Amino acid sequence: MITDSKYPIKRYSWQREAILDIIRDSNEHPTAEWVYNQIRTIIPNISLGTVYRNLQQLTEAGLIKTHQFETGKMRYDGIINHHFHFICESCNRIEDHVVENLESQFVGLMHDSSAHINHSELYLYGICETCTNKTRL
Ligand SMILES: [Zn+2]
Ligand SMILES: [Zn+2]
Repeated sequence: MITDSKYPIKRYSWQREAILDIIRDSNEHPTAEWVYNQIRTIIPNISLGTVYRNLQQLTEAGLIKTHQFETGKMRYDGIINHHFHFICESCNRIEDHVVENLESQFVGLMHDSSAHINHSELYLYGICETCTNKTRL
């Protein structure tokens, strides 16, 4: 964890709250750059580095989750309950789907193994409803 000793962490907690709100209010699974562009409308002087640092702190605190749906781009998720994602390969839309006990079913599949599972992710790729309807027209 990166802390700046000159500024106690508390001083910036309202910025972190604002970033958390932006991510929770969005269902876009935004990138850091997207969060940065949103937060600048509220806090014009904020730097991209500060946004990255706060995102890292929020992730470490377990308040948001990170995903890498496509190579190289970290995306942030305000839904921390276990859910799976459907990603449209045509418009890149990301849909959240919550399925009760999905994770425990996965873990059940591994019951013969002595492996210890820390977390799991499920991504489904395809063409979304909107894109499917477009091609039909
Ligand atoms: Zn689509
Ligand atoms: Zn999600």
